[in-house]
Amino acid sequence: MIMSILTGLGYDIHRLEAGDHLLLAGVKVPADKKIVAHSDGDIVYHCLAQAIFSALGLDDIGSYFPDSSEKTAGLSSIVIVEKALVEMRKHGYQIGNVVIAIILEKPKLKQYKADIKDAIAMTLNIPADKVAIHANTSEMVGPVGEGEAVACLCNILLKKE
Ligand SMILES: [Zn+2]
Repeated sequence: MIMSILTGLGYDIHRLEAGDHLLLAGVKVPADKKIVAHSDGDIVYHCLAQAIFSALGLDDIGSYFPDSSEKTAGLSSIVIVEKALVEMRKHGYQIGNVVIAIILEKPKLKQYKADIKDAIAMTLNIPADKVAIHANTSEMVGPVGEGEAVACLCNILLKKE
């Protein structure tokens, strides 16, 4: 049997402003900042959904969930991932593995990585060992390094048997 595989790439960046937590894959990470966004600002879910859409050769998430629409104001970003999963199943694919890199100056994510990983595994309905979460800083340079923004990258593999 021939297996068909697809890879997808997601990238996202959001501004930070004064606040009390960052929402990362539904996990509230205490911080002195919050993510600025039209939706709930869950950058990890945006990135993940974009990776799935891109693997399927579909348009970016802005075409499905325009940030100019009142309907998407404050939107729970898990809805965006669920839409991507519906498209994925429609195309007959399932997830092989997911790699997510979160680039953030502070706080350190070490103690939250396990929770973020479990949340993603649950959302995607895949085993946690198929999800990798890597956290990087930006070495105090650029908007991310200066604490003005948070960025996220996601690489995904979809497979069809
Ligand atoms: Zn976003």
